[in-house]
Order: sequence, then structure tokens, then C-alpha cells
Amino acid sequence: MTPRVVPYFLPMFADTLLQWFDTHKRDLPWRGETDPYRIWVSEIILQQTRVAQGIDYYRRFLEAFPDVAALARADEAAVLKVWQGLGYYSRARNMHAAARSIMDEHGGRFPADYAGIRQLKGVGDYTAAAIGSIAFGLPHPAVDGNVLRFVARYQGIFDNIAADTTRRQIADLCGQWLATDRAGAFNQAMMEMGATLCTPKSPDCSHCPFADQCYAHLHEQTEQLPFKSLNVKVKERFFHYLVPLFQEQTILQRRSHDDIWKNLYEFPLVEQESEHFEINIYLKNNHIETSAPPQRFWQTKHVLTHRNIYAYFYLVPVKRLPKPTADQMVVKISELKNYAVAKVTERAIDILLGDDSTAQLQLDFNPKNPSRPC
Ligand code: SF4
Repeated sequence: MTPRVVPYFLPMFADTLLQWFDTHKRDLPWRGETDPYRIWVSEIILQQTRVAQGIDYYRRFLEAFPDVAALARADEAAVLKVWQGLGYYSRARNMHAAARSIMDEHGGRFPADYAGIRQLKGVGDYTAAAIGSIAFGLPHPAVDGNVLRFVARYQGIFDNIAADTTRRQIADLCGQWLATDRAGAFNQAMMEMGATLCTPKSPDCSHCPFADQCYAHLHEQTEQLPFKSLNVKVKERFFHYLVPLFQEQTILQRRSHDDIWKNLYEFPLVEQESEHFEINIYLKNNHIETSAPPQRFWQTKHVLTHRNIYAYFYLVPVKRLPKPTADQMVVKISELKNYAVAKVTERAIDILLGDDSTAQLQLDFNPKNPSRPC
């Protein structure tokens, strides 16, 4: 299949795009926003999150931290708590660190140039271009997955869109088409095209303003384009969580090392090479005396980028709680929900407390009050 050759400079492209955007754009809480802090928050949330889920978090985040100074003042634990459930927690940690650097190094003013924005922790090319163009009108193309897909189809680009060279080629094209007097609207319109019309499956070509020029549509190649090959090996990890239980108390620990879910809390973890875990041998070797047999009460598979996490949760009624290590602390069962935790642990806590009607814990004692039967 030979890609179509089209002129790279299309003066009408931006006009057509912006006309369509002005009429059809979705009504979202960050539309029309010019405050760079708020735009930054929306862009970071939307990096790995669907719009429908992101709206709620956007509002809650701004309610908790209405400006960069409030975010910088907050404890990281409070930021992670507001972020809980959204995943990719490094986003929240990076924003918090960046807010502090804006206060310390920029006198509390959000940087207004591309290089300054790009230097903020957690801000890559795409996010810097999006914030710079929307907040300050800087003419930098913002190229995310939506834009890559739309341009690859429109232009008939068959190269791997996961490759840096293809991304650069598409960014160059967008840079030439960009409407310099409405850079922010242009970038938002490009993303809106990919998000609403030129969707991954079944693009809505019948309503697309570019249908009469689009290579993929004209050649019936919308299913073949874009071509993407990640060629990435997925790593499998097996997390066995022990929930020791003694007099309505258990133990939580903080993930302080450089790994997924950094600084979030979790139950004591034994990572193994497989699902297989000899819990009784482990308890014996670690001198943990039980008052009833341990019981695996929930297991799940959690898919992250390039990683599958298999998590297993065991309730371990003990004669006394093991002595907490430096990263651990004793926590009342009734206070477990006060801590920022990853989604899998959040669900395990719900099951443990009987707050998850889809997975009731079948026990012969009540975890909230072990002396009383269920
Ligand atoms: S015509 Fe269809 S495939 Fe082409 S850009 Fe529009 S929505 Fe995408």
C-alpha cells in the first residue's frame, strides 16, 4: 500500500478544523480555562484517564488544592489520598514536587515559556505544548495518542506510531498546520477529533469534516491505520499480602522504595515468583503465631503498563501482631480507609470491612470484632 502524497502545508486545514471544533466541542469543565495551574491539573489527570472519570477527580483536586501554593503546602500523603483510585500515582507525586519548585524557583508564578513548563517534574513534550498553547498561546503542537491516530489515518502514514521517528514526523506536520493565532484551540481541536470522531474503533467518518480528503477513509483503511507495534515484554509479578489481625488491629506499611505505588500504603507484602506461596512455612519461619488458620480471602489481576500484578490477600488471625518494622505501623481496622492505597488494596479493605457486596468475605469470625461470630 503506497501512502498518499499530499501537500504538507494545507492552509485550509486549520480553518476547517477550528470551524468544526467551535461547533462540536464537548462541554468540559476545563474548556475556556486560561489559568495555567488548572490547565496543568486537567492535562495531568487526563494523561492516563478517561474524560468521564477525570472530571470528578479534576473537581475534587481543585477543591482540595485550589492553587499552586495550596498544592505546594500540602502533605504528599494528602495529595495521594485525593488521587486515590486514579492510578499512575507518580503523576500526583510529580505534581506535588513541581508545585514546590514553582514556589521555590519561580516565585510562585507558573512558568510562561515552553522551556520553563517542560522542566517541571512529570511534564513531557505533549503536556508542555498543551499547557503552553492553551494558557499562553505558545505555538507548539501537542501530539498525544488521539492526534497520532487522526493524522496517521488522514495522511496515510503506515509507519509505526509507537516509534519516535514517526512521532516526530507527525509533530512536524502538526507544527506546519498549527494556527498560530489560536494555538490552544488548534491543539484541543486535534485531540477532540481523535477522541470523538476518529476513534480507535469505528471512526465516525460520515460526520468528519476531512472525510473527502482522508486517505484512510477514501481507501477503506481505517481498520489498518494507525499501525502500532509496541514490542514490549509484559512482566508478571505476584504479590502475596498478609493481613495480620489481632484485637481489631492490623499492620500497614508504606511503599518507600522506587517501584509502582511509591509512598502508598499496603498490607505486609511477600513478593514471590509465582502464585505459589507456602504461607504456613513463611509464618513459622518468621515466628508469627496464629490463632486460627490463615485464609486467602481475595485475589485479583491488576493490569498496568508493561506489568501484570497478581495480588493475593490472606487474613491471618494472630496471637499478637508482629513487631512493626521502620516502614510499618499498627492500624485499627476501622481506620484503614484513612490511608492512601492502590486500587487493589482499596478493594481488599472493602471486602474485609464488608463494604463490597460483590465479594463477601466468608469467615467464621468477624474481622471488625473477632471475638464475635459473623
Ligand atoms: S474521515 Fe474517518 S478516518 Fe479519516 S480523519 Fe475523519 S474520522 Fe478519521
